[in-house]
Amino acid sequence: MQIEIVPCLSDNYAYLVRTEDHCLVIDPSEEAPVRAALDRLGWRPDYILNTHHHLDHTGGNLALKRHYGAKIVGPGKDAARIPGLDIGVDEASGWEFGGHKVQVLEVPGHTRSGIAFVMDANVFTGDTLFALGCGRLFEGDAAMMWTSLSKLMALPDATRIYCGHEYTEANGRFALTIEPGNAALTARMIEVKAARAAGRPTVPSTIGLEKRTNPFLRAASPEIRKKLAMQNATDAAVFGEVRHRKDNF
Ligand code: ZN
Ligand code: FE
Repeated sequence: MQIEIVPCLSDNYAYLVRTEDHCLVIDPSEEAPVRAALDRLGWRPDYILNTHHHLDHTGGNLALKRHYGAKIVGPGKDAARIPGLDIGVDEASGWEFGGHKVQVLEVPGHTRSGIAFVMDANVFTGDTLFALGCGRLFEGDAAMMWTSLSKLMALPDATRIYCGHEYTEANGRFALTIEPGNAALTARMIEVKAARAAGRPTVPSTIGLEKRTNPFLRAASPEIRKKLAMQNATDAAVFGEVRHRKDNF
């Protein structure tokens, strides 16, 4: 399985996935850069996958569907808000293309019906989990998002994370205010800054790296709990406070 990163808009990523006989586009914000990348590679997508309904993940759906005759796969529970949806999926249904099994995780919180796609050792998280961050709670609450993030944390540590935006450096600046004593975080930020200065993406990350460095996954960290004076709070409550502080950062 080959995966190509396509920068879109100012800080979005769409992804192209290719197997021997199929090609998928994930979260096409817009048509032009996705088509340019497909042309350059000589690939023709037969499916377009959406993690959630936001325009910066679905804006290219209809034009790409028209041009390639591709089918659109997305959260069935959000059929009315996914432009051109052909195949609605959920956690129970999963999905499959040409014999390749795709695990669908329902990860509400950023939107009420967001999903993540797991393919082999890769997960496409949309705006639920970012490198060093997580999505804002537009249509859900902290408890709901914590449950969603916990599902992602349960994937094997080596799973590569392909997220919806290049927010890593700004996320990291916030993360350092929450857990300044985390040596893995400090070390990671040096690499992130170098990558960005060189114009390189910071994706993919991995589940293991996020568990060690992403403050939104680290509700159990004694340093974070002490910093927030929440030593006896639930993980969901600690997560909620970290999210709240990031909203006001
Ligand atoms: Zn979004
Ligand atoms: Fe987005």
